Amino acid sequence: MGERRRRAHAMLFPFPCPGHINPTLKLAELLHSRGVHVTFVNTEYNQERLRRRRGGGGELRDMEGFRFEAVSDGLSEEERASPDRTVKLYLSLRRNCRAPLVELARRVARCKGVPPVTCVVLSGLVSFALAVAEELAVPAFVLWGTSACGFVCTLRLRQLRQRGYTPLKDESYLTNGYLDTPIDWIAGMPTVRLGDISSFVRTLDPTSFGLRVEEEEANSCARAQGLILNTFDDLESDVLDALGDEFPRVYTIGPLAAAMHGRVGDRASGHGHSHGGPPGLSLWEEDAACMAWLDAQPAGSVLYVSFGSLAVMSLDELAEFAWGLADSHRPFLWVVRPGLVAGDRGTDALPDDFLAATKDRCFIAEWCAQEQVLRHGAVGGFLTHSGWNSTTESIWAGVPMICWPGFADQYINSRYVRDEWGIGRNAAKWKAMTEAATAPGGSSYDNLDKLVDELRQDEA
Ligand code: UDP
Repeated sequence: MGERRRRAHAMLFPFPCPGHINPTLKLAELLHSRGVHVTFVNTEYNQERLRRRRGGGGELRDMEGFRFEAVSDGLSEEERASPDRTVKLYLSLRRNCRAPLVELARRVARCKGVPPVTCVVLSGLVSFALAVAEELAVPAFVLWGTSACGFVCTLRLRQLRQRGYTPLKDESYLTNGYLDTPIDWIAGMPTVRLGDISSFVRTLDPTSFGLRVEEEEANSCARAQGLILNTFDDLESDVLDALGDEFPRVYTIGPLAAAMHGRVGDRASGHGHSHGGPPGLSLWEEDAACMAWLDAQPAGSVLYVSFGSLAVMSLDELAEFAWGLADSHRPFLWVVRPGLVAGDRGTDALPDDFLAATKDRCFIAEWCAQEQVLRHGAVGGFLTHSGWNSTTESIWAGVPMICWPGFADQYINSRYVRDEWGIGRNAAKWKAMTEAATAPGGSSYDNLDKLVDELRQDEA
């Protein structure tokens, strides 16, 4: 009694794309800074990619109480190159990773000084790993990477399907106003319309893979001991109140970018971590030169343009954006990552005459340190695809957004950015509220403490 039995040990496994890796790594660092032993599991493919990019593993150095491990994602090279590689990856992880993750947890616990894994933390889209926790007989927590609204909308896909709202009857339903149908029966979200809910309601296919997977992934969170959300109470109070009836243990600890900044120092600004934590994982090389370019621009003058890590646009859309930006006559920093353009294309797809026309006031990067960019004084606006990480990073930075949603929860995020939060008008107010939520005594700060207490309860 009262004897310290074992240190809490969280094994974290995100779906292997930046939108899941980034917040999960932040959570891992926050837990580590609060005394939890951490094993962060990448896929071997990503781990290799990170190692090669850094010329030998600089980014993945383990440290006391924090180690990186990897499991194979099971994808063939052919599958990796296919246009629907994300679907293939999802299926392959489900098929191949459960037993290796169990084995990994047992193997690390045999290493000297490493306590047994006491909980498993997964991101969305890897719900198969709930079975890993069950097999290890430890609790599981899900860090669902969307807003609370996004999560609730995803949960409600099942009812929307059962009530016949989706799949759509035919193509005309995409344009005839049907998507504006009010959905007034989702608790905490009285003003939502069908088209806001998710890209997955926009299908004509009764067997839609995306619809089925999203529904299943969100509903499977009920099997976890707790749900962790990258949001904060004041931002989504109504929907969080409603969600509490269904999910008694919700930990709202976001925005994680702000929480990290407060707790373990600012990687982006080059300050060290107070606990000596690892630097971030970026699957693409961040173009450092864009920061110097920003330094030379007037305050608040630059439009930052990025569509995240997964969006793919057509050549026509790319040209439309390019000429729109050219015609704005404003400076802009545009992230055109490899694969942004259909056919696995990137900057090579930009029209030559566009580059010539804008060269004095544009910077094209393949990838950048986005949090750092958004917090740079020269940035005055963000043209975004409304991914949830990008949205929270922008809210934290106090940067108004222009939204171009196209997939999954991006529709509900952009709807709330515009109509509920009025970010274009209230950016400074939300920035201050973000800071208050993640500062000592704020709701996200306290909720992180509660989560850590729960993870460490068997230690004392
Ligand atoms: N990001 C980045 N550099 C870039 C573009 C994006 O570091 O040039 C990061 C961004 O900060 C965010 C993540 O990639 O954390 C994208 O996640 P989000 O949820 O916004 O979109 P997704 O990629 O999942 O569609």
